[in-house]
Order: sequence, then structure tokens, then C-alpha cells
Amino acid sequence: MIPYGRQDISADDIAAVLAVLQSDFLTQGPAIERFERVVADYCGAKYAVAVANATAALHIACLAADLGPGDRLWTVPNTFVASANCGRYCGAVVDFVDIDADTLNLSVAALRQKLLAAKATGTLPKVLVPVDFAGRSCEMAELRQLANEYGFVLLEDASHAIGARYQGRPVGSCAFSDMTVFSFHPVKIVTTGEGGMVLTNNEAMYRRLLRLRSHGITRDSADMLQPEAGGWVYQQLELGFNYRITDIQAALGASQMTRLDHFVEQRQQKVQRYLQLLADLPLILPALPSAENRSAWHLFPVQIDVQRCAHDRLQVFEALRSRGVGVNVHYIPVHTQPYYLQLGFDWGQFPVAEQYYRQALSLPLYPGLSDAQQDQVVQALQEVLS
Ligand SMILES: *Cc1c(COP(=O)(O)O)cnc(C)c1O
Repeated sequence: MIPYGRQDISADDIAAVLAVLQSDFLTQGPAIERFERVVADYCGAKYAVAVANATAALHIACLAADLGPGDRLWTVPNTFVASANCGRYCGAVVDFVDIDADTLNLSVAALRQKLLAAKATGTLPKVLVPVDFAGRSCEMAELRQLANEYGFVLLEDASHAIGARYQGRPVGSCAFSDMTVFSFHPVKIVTTGEGGMVLTNNEAMYRRLLRLRSHGITRDSADMLQPEAGGWVYQQLELGFNYRITDIQAALGASQMTRLDHFVEQRQQKVQRYLQLLADLPLILPALPSAENRSAWHLFPVQIDVQRCAHDRLQVFEALRSRGVGVNVHYIPVHTQPYYLQLGFDWGQFPVAEQYYRQALSLPLYPGLSDAQQDQVVQALQEVLS
């Protein structure tokens, strides 16, 4: 089965991991800070905090935004559940903003409308989590303006988008967001096995993130609330977690980062090939961003064009799987998950995301996908859709 995504591990990556295994520190050693610096420098952000996974990153980012019970977090339905769950971990009320049918990202027009209505009823969000779907940046300049106007924290879920650009700047620069989160799960652009990171230019948020990653504990005497009795003292200032990543993982991540641009170029090249080879099929192909907005192409999401095609998505999905093509679906709208239905959401509330979902299919896309494998995907699609 050709998977929809797959990691790319080199001999250098393996050597980097081995070096940590032979060193003094498997965790809380120097590799983590090195990885953080490499990612922050690549993105042009001041600060980076590496953690166990992006879900943990989103959680502590929400806490660093002071999200708590009674507050509101808004995100999009077209994402992985973690983008919404981080609000629930903090006891906040979660709500959704529909997507734009062309970019498949948060619709700025829908957001504007919802903000106006929320202002009238005193239900404005404290945190907005836009998601850079498939690796394409959201319209961050517009979102920043709205964040300033309405006073919410802009927490960008860029789990798909390390290596992408927005207005010429790397996603993760935090030029527009307050904090940006990356995931290093194996299907994502760069991997650490499991891993995540929060980037920010805000020093207060950075210090809070560091503390929340490790039990809410500080060892910095400047931050301590009680007099220090001796050199062994650490003080827990708030309720934090053990969300640390290991040095073993961080070494893999830093090594992977040296190939990030190569990974994205490989993905772009395969996307161009798909666009050519699939042009005549009854598919809605993903829209390309403008030149200054490079997508990292985490996913290649197509839609079965039901107007031009006799088959529905389920038939196409099953026929492709039976031909060894490991297609997937991104995403089941989060508000239609049983957990969110129980909270009062229902089908029909976010029609653009729901319509997209009914037709959506992610085709295999990763740096090691060969031309022959890609041809096999295309041929299977031609057979299935004919
Ligand atoms: C993968 C993903 C996450 C969660 O990442 P983990 O590192 O697996 O916790 C969050 N948001 C989005 C959009 C993702 O794709």
C-alpha cells in the first residue's frame, strides 16, 4: 500500500540519534536547545519551546494566552481534533468558523461576521486558532488586524506548514501570530517521531511556556515567590505538566531541519506533476497560493467533482484502497465528532467545511514518493473515475 504520507530518514539522521544515545543526556540535555534554536532561526522567530507533541504545544499555548473556564476559543471545523481540544483542556467554550471553499482555510469573511455578532452579545473569543491547512498559510495579515481590533490572541496551528512562506516570510516567524505551533509527527513535513513546538516573539509568553512544559516549576531565583533556602531549591509556581521532548527526538529534529527546504521542494515538484497528470479527471484540484505564499504541501487534497462524476467519495476511496493506494480523508469536520455533538453542535452549522468533507480525498504525497508510484496513483484514479 502506498501511504498518504511517510517520513524520510537519512543516515545523518540516524547518526545524530546515535550520538545522543552515546552521550550523557537522553533528556533535558543540550540537543533540545539546539533544535529550538535551529527552528527559531529558520523561521526568524525570537523564541521556541519544543514539547512532546503538537497537542501539548497547543495546550500550553492556550494557557500562556490565559485561556480559562468561561473563555472562548474559536477554530475551524476542517482540522484535526487537537486544534479544538486544546480549548476544552482549559475549560473554555469551543466554537468554529467556517472555511473558504477555495483556500480550505478559515474564511476571513465568515470570521468578520461572527465577530460582529459576538461583540453584540459579549461573547468574543479570547483565542483564535487558524489552521494552515495542507501547508498553506492562512491570511495572517487580515487575522492580525482583526485580533488587534477585537483583542483576541492569535494562535496559529501550523502543524502542516513548517517550511511554508507567507508574504515572503517563513511561517513561524510570528510576524502576525502571537504564537505558532508545529507538529513533528511522522506524516508531517519534519519529524521527531512524536514532537511539537511553540514559537513566539513574546518574552512573557515564552517564559510561561517553558514553565508549563515542566510542571510549572522554575529554577530561576528571579522568578521565585519564596526566599531560596539553598542551591537545591526549585519552586512550583503554577500547575504545569511533563510535556518535555527527549534529546533523542530533538537530535533527529535538528538533523531533519537541514533538509527542510529540500523536503518542501520535493513536495512542490510532485504537486506540479499531480496537477498536470490529473487535469482531465473529474476532480477539483487544490488551488495554488500566490508566489510569495509558498505552501509546504503537507497534503494533496482533491475533491471528487460530483457534478462531473458518477461515483461518490466512498466508492472512490474503497476502489483506490483496493488498488493499493492509501488515500485518506482530511478532515471529518470537528464539530460533527460525537464528543462535539454532545456539546450541542450539529451537522449543517458549517456548510462549506461539511461540503468539502463529503468530496475530500488526500492522495499520497511525501518526499520519497517515486514517479512510478505517483503514476500508479494516477492510473488507479483514471480507472476508478472512468
Ligand atoms: C497533526 C496535527 C496536530 C497534532 O499534532 P501531534 O503532534 O500529533 O499532537 C494538531 N493540529 C493539526 C492541524 C495537525 O495536523
